[in-house]
Amino acid sequence: MLITTDYHLHTSFSSDSKESMEAMIRRALDIGLTEICFTEHRDIDYPVPEDDPSLTFDLDVKAYEEKVRAMQEKYAGLIKIRFGVECGLQPHIVEENKAFVVSAPFDFVLGSQHICNHQDPYNAEYFEGRSDAECYREFFEEIYRNIKLFDDFDVAAHLDYVVRVGKQKDRDYIYEDHRELFREILSYLISHGKGIEINTAGIRYGLKEPNPCTAMVRDYKELGGEILTIGSDAHKAADMATHYQKVSSILEECGFRYITLFENRKPIFVPLT
Ligand SMILES: [Zn+2]
Ligand SMILES: [Zn+2]
Repeated sequence: MLITTDYHLHTSFSSDSKESMEAMIRRALDIGLTEICFTEHRDIDYPVPEDDPSLTFDLDVKAYEEKVRAMQEKYAGLIKIRFGVECGLQPHIVEENKAFVVSAPFDFVLGSQHICNHQDPYNAEYFEGRSDAECYREFFEEIYRNIKLFDDFDVAAHLDYVVRVGKQKDRDYIYEDHRELFREILSYLISHGKGIEINTAGIRYGLKEPNPCTAMVRDYKELGGEILTIGSDAHKAADMATHYQKVSSILEECGFRYITLFENRKPIFVPLT
């Protein structure tokens, strides 16, 4: 099963990446990708760390769009380049996010929860004095809350992302402990026409599985989910489209015969061969 798309990519327009967009495109061509979608970060009211004030997750949308358009023109006929965004969800910024996602003609919007109770679990303080299980549960419940408040996105990104940054990562993480909640989340997404992604960055962080895990992808399929994008969440060119072998086997195991691409926020289903 050959996957030649990467629908989760960051470049220097995201405050946590230094990679140039053109370097990513050249890499994509080198490894035989046919379509990529840049999904730069925009996390409104991100709790900026004192020791790294540049980490704002602000986004210069105008400059970003101009660069994408220039690259689309330069590489026309060689690769399809889509203009996407990764929009950070928090319950108190719903109105700002609603305005943001329609402020530019995005092809694709990822809805992502990175923050819970004004804290980024990427920082160890989030887990201080608490078990991974307790923190994971809180984070998952917050996802359900967030998607019910705001759903003008196309695909929910890396649903069990928090496991990637836990103290013990996935060592004691049992999907079944949260299955009921996730089935509710997945059913909600499906009934609102939203998809999920398989994000392979988790494996780069040392997890056994991508985000979300195979069991959740299987549940999504079983519940009637059809919209599924594949992305590496690469912040540098070398990480693009990594661990796709694993993704192929998950797709096969779960019975997915299509993956999804987006144009003007409309899904395009591409059969897997
Ligand atoms: Zn993310
Ligand atoms: Zn990302």
